[in-house]
Amino acid sequence: MHICPICDEGILQARTYGRDMQHKGVNISVEGLQYDYCLDCEAEMTSPVQLDQNAKIIREAFIAERARVKCEQNLLTGTQIRRVREQLGITQKQASKIFGGGPTAFAKYEAEDVVQSAGMDKLLRLASEVPAATEWLLDRAGEGINRVHMEHEALFAFQDLRAVASSMHKMKLPDWFAEDGNTKHGKFDLSSVACCNDGAYADAA
Ligand SMILES: [Zn+2]
Repeated sequence: MHICPICDEGILQARTYGRDMQHKGVNISVEGLQYDYCLDCEAEMTSPVQLDQNAKIIREAFIAERARVKCEQNLLTGTQIRRVREQLGITQKQASKIFGGGPTAFAKYEAEDVVQSAGMDKLLRLASEVPAATEWLLDRAGEGINRVHMEHEALFAFQDLRAVASSMHKMKLPDWFAEDGNTKHGKFDLSSVACCNDGAYADAA
């Protein structure tokens, strides 16, 4: 039980409220925001812990709404972009170098802070589906990109991607998320996509 710091007498009661708001230009509706109410002097206040919790709730609502809008526009969500990047076995920094968009582009895409262009979206899907395209992009990026060891994780990432996509509210599954792992260009092939620091990309670090 907490005592009100303003009147030093009243008992603080935790309360919640909801609000329609705009966060980073996105309209969201949040519930469960917290504050304390003094039963004696009727003061309202928000503790640092509540502020953190409220920020987390707002952030989650923002990410969910932005992901929903991206799905509607048939754009990859931040989570899906991260999965594609992990499938390719490259860091965020390397991804920016390979695909463009500026040094922090992928950190922002994946955090839903920035929406990728339709062109970037297509490029990412192309790299995800066509190993030869990935290799071409890696060559174009100049210095050897030392991709991290992926192996089976790549397949799991791909399955997760479908699971995430399927669970999205009102989500229309893009054609390339075939249920059986087959894509328009044939079976999703781990051996060709997830090369592990071999060949041209060995010891570049
Ligand atoms: Zn009080």
